[in-house]
Order: sequence, then C-alpha cells, then structure tokens
Amino acid sequence: MSLLAGRTAVVTGSAQGIGYAIAEAFAAEGANLVIADINGDAAEAAALQLGIGSRAIGVACDVSSGADVAALAQAATDRFGSLDVFVNNAGITRDATMRKMTEDMFDQVIAVHLRGSWLGTRAAAAVMREQPGGGSIVNISSISGKVGLMGQTNYSAAKAGMVGLTKAAAKEVGFANVRVNAVQPGLIRTPMTEGMREDIKEARLKEIALGRMGEATEIAQAVLFLASDMSSYITGAVVEVTGGRHM
Ligand code: NAP
Repeated sequence: MSLLAGRTAVVTGSAQGIGYAIAEAFAAEGANLVIADINGDAAEAAALQLGIGSRAIGVACDVSSGADVAALAQAATDRFGSLDVFVNNAGITRDATMRKMTEDMFDQVIAVHLRGSWLGTRAAAAVMREQPGGGSIVNISSISGKVGLMGQTNYSAAKAGMVGLTKAAAKEVGFANVRVNAVQPGLIRTPMTEGMREDIKEARLKEIALGRMGEATEIAQAVLFLASDMSSYITGAVVEVTGGRHM
C-alpha cells in the first residue's frame, strides 16, 4: 500500500528545487498533487512533468497573499475533494549584513517565509480540522533558524519564527488530529544555493559531519515521513536534515 494513496497534497514553491522533489516523492506514493508557485506557468509545467496526468495540477500563488493562499486551499478541495497534506516550502533569500540590508529586504523575507507559512498553516488547518482523519502540515524552516547565520538576520529570524508557529499551531489543532511539524534543511543542492561563492561553500562543507551537500530528494524523504501515517504520533517536532551540521 502506498504511503499517501488517495490523499491530496499542496506543496508551495514546488516548481523547482526542494519543493519539486517533495512533490515527486509524494506522487510516487500515490498522492494527488497541487503544485503552487509564484510563477503559474512554471507550476503548470512542473505538474505536467510529474507524469501523473490528472492527479496533478499547477496553481499560481504568491504565498504572502492571504487571498492567493485561500484560493490555493480551495483549488485543492474543489479539484480533489480533500486537503490532507500542506507543505509550506516557498522561499527566497535576500542576504546582506545589517549594514547593507534594507528594510525592504527584511520585509520581503519575513513576508514569504513567516507570513506565508502562517497563511498556509491557517488555511490548511481550517480544512483539515473539519474532515475525518485530520491532516499533516509541514513547514520548511532552515538550520539558519536554529543557529543564526551571518548575513541572514532576515532569513534566520523568519526561519526561527516558523518553529514557534509550528509548535503553537500543533497545540491548537492537535485535538482534530491535525499534525504540524517543521524540517530544518542544512546545505542542499538547489537553484537557491547554485550561485553560492566557492570559498563560502568550501567553508560550510567543513562544518558538515557527512562532508557533503545534501540532495533535495533527501529533504523530500523526511517530509514524506512527516506527511504520512509513519509519523502518526509526531507533532510540534523539528527535524534537522543537515548531514550533521550545527548539531
Ligand atoms: P528554490 O530552488 O529557490 O525554490 C523556491 C521556489 O519558491 C521557487 O520556485 C520560487 O519561485 C518560489 N517562490 C518564491 N517566492 C514565492 C512566493 N512568494 N510564493 C510562491 N512561491 C514562491 O529554493 P529551494 O532551495 O528549493 O528552497 C525551498 C525551501 O527550503 C525554502 O523555504 C528554503 O528557505 C528552504 N531551505 C533551503 C536550503 C538549501 O540549502 N537549498 C536550506 C535550508 C532551507 P521563483 O524562483 O520564481 O522565485
């Protein structure tokens, strides 16, 4: 029996990178997929690329917009009849030291990660708490939110905020068997990290016990575990997937 057979999953920011790998892992386990991304064409192309036909749709959604996120949850239930898994994955970086970071760079990162995850968690929980069986919400935080990284005061703050959001929401909706968990990836090979300077990459690799970058599929496996009944007694947890960095 597949882990997510007959269930419907929304993954934000899933036209590429970690989000797409999560969608692929879910699709392989029988889920219906809603690929949400700020670029609607890219979302539709990714849904097609999954190769599961009418089991996947692409939806344009800016996760920092309450109206877009509400419409996204509605699109999932309209098309597939339920919303069982919601992954808040969409992300951006606007790195700079505080001397150079503008208020706009701070606000943009908080809006996408923290406000976006809150909007997604709220919209998903509203559906899941009313349906038999509840559901699973997974917030993609970052190890940057655990330890704080130089040049990321905006991103570290947002990713730490997502941990508080995860735990508070888990307490609010646990009664309805809605589980809310977070994943903190370390250094993962995706378009987001492609442009990283070689010297910075080399320095970061030295901090990783397993001595290598992670693959998006390795985050997807952890998210699949949290999305499925394999983790039925886990809520409010933060799972580090870092190859042993900043333990
Ligand atoms: P990515 O390759 O840049 O993918 C992120 C996706 O989110 C892109 O398709 C992006 O679209 C989309 N997006 C951006 N703003 C959005 C918005 N407002 N609404 C909807 N979609 C939006 O990044 P990734 O590396 O896969 O990262 C995925 C998540 O993992 C992020 O939350 C990131 O912070 C987290 N993470 C990544 C790493 C890593 O090493 N890669 C480590 C820790 C945590 P555009 O490309 O058009 O902007």
